[in-house]
Amino acid sequence: MDIRIGNGYDVHALAPGLPLWLGGVQVESPIGCIAHSDGDVAIHALCDALLGALALGDIGKHFPDTSDEFAGIDSKILLSRVMTLVRAEGWSVANVDITIAMQRPKLAPYIVPMRECMAGVMGVDVSQVSVKATTTEKLGFVGRSEGCEVYAVALLRRD
Ligand code: MG
Repeated sequence: MDIRIGNGYDVHALAPGLPLWLGGVQVESPIGCIAHSDGDVAIHALCDALLGALALGDIGKHFPDTSDEFAGIDSKILLSRVMTLVRAEGWSVANVDITIAMQRPKLAPYIVPMRECMAGVMGVDVSQVSVKATTTEKLGFVGRSEGCEVYAVALLRRD
């Protein structure tokens, strides 16, 4: 069995009055991500982890933010396209683990819906998709709610 690991990292700036999409789920929030796409920073980090595991570059290479095709795009479509690339060479997802750093709003009620949503898009079991959320104790740009930061790790296997 071959295994591959990849990590992903993404940041988006936050501004009042924008929708907040995280892990494929709309979060009730007075602030949302500034972005060319729907700004789902969690899915973006996950896509980079999956692409990184196979040394296929990054999300910006596959879905450039200069392209009209991706303006306002639902990031679940990007994740679905990345999964097509993953499966193309016989790889499958063993597990993924995502950490979202955000000062507010509280994300606890959204953790399970995010896991279910991303597992559905990836075609894996919910138990293979972990989502964790943390604040940064009001430190730094995350702590000041100027941005949202996400780290992701993906383990792939090929039998
Ligand atoms: Mg992004």
